[in-house]
Order: sequence, then structure tokens, then C-alpha cells
Amino acid sequence: MSSETVKVMVRARPMNKLEISKGCANIVQVDPQTNQIILSNGKDAEAAKVFTYDYVFPPDIQQQTVYENSAFPLVESVVEGYNGTIFAYGQTGCGKTHSMLGKPNDEVEKGIIPRTFSHIINIVESANDKNFLVRCSYIEIYNEEIHDLLGKDAKARMDLKEYPDKGVFVKDLTMNVVKTVAEMEKWMNIGTENRSVGATAMNKDSSRSHSIFTLYIECSYKVEGDTEDHITAGKLNLVDLAGSERQSKTQATGDRLKEATKINLSLSALGNVISALVDGKSQHVPYRDSKLTRLLQDSLGGNTKTIMIAAISPADYNYEETLSTLRYASRAK
Ligand code: ADP
Ligand code: MG
Repeated sequence: MSSETVKVMVRARPMNKLEISKGCANIVQVDPQTNQIILSNGKDAEAAKVFTYDYVFPPDIQQQTVYENSAFPLVESVVEGYNGTIFAYGQTGCGKTHSMLGKPNDEVEKGIIPRTFSHIINIVESANDKNFLVRCSYIEIYNEEIHDLLGKDAKARMDLKEYPDKGVFVKDLTMNVVKTVAEMEKWMNIGTENRSVGATAMNKDSSRSHSIFTLYIECSYKVEGDTEDHITAGKLNLVDLAGSERQSKTQATGDRLKEATKINLSLSALGNVISALVDGKSQHVPYRDSKLTRLLQDSLGGNTKTIMIAAISPADYNYEETLSTLRYASRAK
């Protein structure tokens, strides 16, 4: 498999107010010319580590620019019937949700998910000779349990099923037909709200769960000379992953430790799948190792496009986590 199908991007956020007030040093340099991230250890210039990716986004990048260089081409191919997936990976507080959702109701600050809406509706409305059916779903994976964020009960545990012809799917998952940007925004807001309400009620932290907003796009059109309509079906998975931070830092015990183990399991399963795909030589792609990779199996590898956006902090006190994120992202390249 060529690296055309998997693209790895790194986005560094700006230093935040607290980090500035504490006088943290900036240890991350982003070079968009060479697509490199240079990580210094804050002391020894010789010890700087250089990583090269498919794309790098500096702290002052606009949300619009991130969209154009990541999701835009994926939406274009999903409309033509391909599957695609975008992941935001990284330590909690580094900008995963900022990249995926941003401020959904702010034209400048809205992130990737709300930007796909107007993009898709524009394509649908300008295609006079094609009929589109667009649907969306929104789920959360917490502790290897799947929850339907658009269902009647977001706390209910959903089952993963597998049929030879249908592949892997969530049984009884709510899928809503969406015809306008406003309808898409409505479901995004309801799902996001259910995610945080559920988090509070169950005393869990949404940074400990993965969320997947999926857009399903079917298209039918006539081809001269053919009696039957041609049909294409593609889907786009927009994934906000659980925080990748190692648990020693948070001193997890009991339920928190159990959560942490499940998160580590699914993030390492994802890393293994992506590196097997990038490697191209692996006979075995270990999709079955987690709910996340099983569920995304038909949208990772093969005839699909995958983008990973790794979010990092520029501040010195995050050195170890930043290094670990850059390494994870390198492995995926
Ligand atoms: P995560 O989802 O990875 O835990 P968030 O996306 O919630 O992190 O980001 C943490 C905070 O930093 C938020 O207040 C967010 O608005 C801010 N932030 C993250 N990335 C950026 C960025 N590139 N530019 C400006 N603010 C950002
Ligand atoms: Mg987040």
C-alpha cells in the first residue's frame, strides 16, 4: 500500500495563558517548508530530535487551512463512494477537540466536523444529475463499550455485529437522514451534549473515551445506455480519540486504571493497524484487537483514505508526552 492512503499530520497548539504566566519554554519548532517538527529538550541544542510528516500545522494556523489540507480531499472522495477516516490523536489538552469540533457555531473557529457539513451540502445541491442520500451517526466508545449518542438512551450498551455481506456494524445504531447544514448541526450538538451529560452522570471524563461522528453518503445517477441506476456509497468517520497520556502521571487506580488499560489497548491496536497498513508488507492487519479498529475496519486500508492529525503542546513540561505522540505519529507514517 502506498503512503497515499495514510497521511500523518502534526498540529502544534499555541502556548496557553497558564503556560505563558508560568514562563514555560517553547520546545517545539514547526517547519511547514520541510514538513518537519523539531523537538528540543530545552537544554541541549545538539539533542534536538527531528521528525518529518506529510503535513505540519504551526500554532497560528487557521481552522480553514487545516480543513483544506486534511478533510477537504476526503469529503470529495467520500462523495464519489470511497470510505475515509480522520483521527485526532494526542495528549489531553493539546487540541484534538479543537481540531475536530472547534467552536462549532463560530465561522472562523469551527473545526473539521462542522466544516464538512457545508462542503457536503454544496456538493449535493450543485449536482443536478445525481440523487444523494446523506445520513449521520454519532457514537462513543468508553471502556470498550459502544454508546449511541443519538439514541434514546446514550447510556445503553450497543452490540457490535458482523455479517459476511455487511461487515462489522453497530446493531440498531441511530442513523439520521440529513438534508441541510442545520439538520447536521442539530445532530452534532445533540450528540456532543449527550456525551458530556453522560460523562457527568457516570462520573467519567470525556477525555477517556473515543467519539466517532460518521457521515454516510449514497449517490445514484443514470448513465446513458444503462437501464439500471448506478449507485455509490461512501462514509467518512471523524474520530476524536481518548487522550494518549500515559497513566503513571495520573496515578490511576481502580476504575480509572481499568479505563486507562482499555484506552492504551485501543490506541496501541490503532497504531498497530495503521503501521501494518503503511508497511504494506504485513500479511496480517490486527483489526480484531479493539472495538475501535473492528468498527473502522472497512474505512482503514484497502480502497480508503486515512488521515491522522497528532496534536501536540509546545511547552517544555510536556516534553515526554510530546515525544511519545511524535513517535506514535512517526510509526503511522
Ligand atoms: P483535547 O481535546 O486534545 O483534550 P482541546 O481541543 O480541548 O484538547 O484543547 C485544549 C484547550 O486549548 C482548549 O481551550 C482549546 O480551545 C485550546 N486550543 C487547542 N488547540 C488550539 C489551537 N490550535 N489554537 C488555539 N487554541 C487551541
Ligand atoms: Mg477533547
